[in-house]
Amino acid sequence: MNRLINELLAVMGEEKVKLDEPMSARTTFRIGGPADVFVEPDSEERLCQVVALCREAGVPFVCVGNGSNLLVSDDGFRGVVVSTRRGMEQLEINGDLVKAGAGVLLSRLASECCRAGLGGLEFAGGIPGTVGGAVVMNAGAYGGEMKQVLTRVHVLMPDGDLVWFPVEDMELGYRTSCIPSCGGIVTAAEFRLYPRDSALIKAEMDELGRRRREKQPIELPSAGSTFKRPVGYFAGKLIQDAGLAGFSVGGAQVSTKHCGFVVNRGGATAVDVLSLCRQVKDEVYHQFGVSLEMEVKTLGM
Ligand SMILES: Cc1cc2nc3c(=O)[nH]c(=O)nc-3n(C[C@H](O)[C@H](O)[C@H](O)COP(=O)(O)OP(=O)(O)OC[C@H]3O[C@@H](n4cnc5c(N)ncnc54)[C@H](O)[C@@H]3O)c2cc1C
Repeated sequence: MNRLINELLAVMGEEKVKLDEPMSARTTFRIGGPADVFVEPDSEERLCQVVALCREAGVPFVCVGNGSNLLVSDDGFRGVVVSTRRGMEQLEINGDLVKAGAGVLLSRLASECCRAGLGGLEFAGGIPGTVGGAVVMNAGAYGGEMKQVLTRVHVLMPDGDLVWFPVEDMELGYRTSCIPSCGGIVTAAEFRLYPRDSALIKAEMDELGRRRREKQPIELPSAGSTFKRPVGYFAGKLIQDAGLAGFSVGGAQVSTKHCGFVVNRGGATAVDVLSLCRQVKDEVYHQFGVSLEMEVKTLGM
């Protein structure tokens, strides 16, 4: 590990390599112990170098974006966390084609496309993730999802090759893609949008933002919807009907504003969240016979 750290420092410089970085500072849940090493490559080339060095050293690594769909263990992560969030933020608009680096925030992508008079990403403006994380999760909201606007995705494959995947090959489904199973890292994505009046785009984004603020506990740390939507139901409604609004374990609580969200009321640990989720799942299954599945990804456990 020490050799790898020295190699990473030599390639990336001290500013981009952090040791024992608290993941609570890198996730919207504000939960998570230290990552042994946290690196922020400033280009696709650097990212490839970092991954190659980790592989050579046999040290576990994982790629994260804005940490808005992540629950990290209280013990943190033994290995290297590679973050695309700062440094891989190139954005190019050519006619109705938009190419964005994995670290571009969806809020920026949506607002720049709005300014350019390109519609199609209105749904994405309020999702607090990066392009990379959104592709991996096939993020979606209010009837839109990444699948509808993506044309192709640039992926660093486990063998070190960089490959453009056409959207048809991405196996995009409800909050899933082929990326976790193929072990790839998304480095960039291309979208095809359509010409639309900027004022109309902005009005739609403002309205969706208003609905989000009204319905979701965005004022508290969370990782968004905790559970996937079970076929034929809404997770939040089932949890509410089970009488679990406000149910707490330690600092973790089922939001009273939207039962589909687990929020960090202050000092919540990953153990609190997992224990709460287990009890919520058991109670919903007991009362309604519906199995809830986690949408939030876990790291280090
Ligand atoms: C308040 C709030 C509201 C939300 N609303 C929505 C919503 O409306 N719709 C929705 O779909 N989601 C929503 N989310 C969840 C989250 O924002 C999305 O899932 C988002 O797409 C995650 O992006 P990220 O960059 O934060 O990914 P992260 O949380 O950093 O990572 C998510 C997963 O993707 C992997 N990953 C990340 N980047 C890469 C990469 N470049 N290559 C390979 N793997 C990668 C990570 O290892 C992890 O497994 C919400 C979250 C919050 C906190």
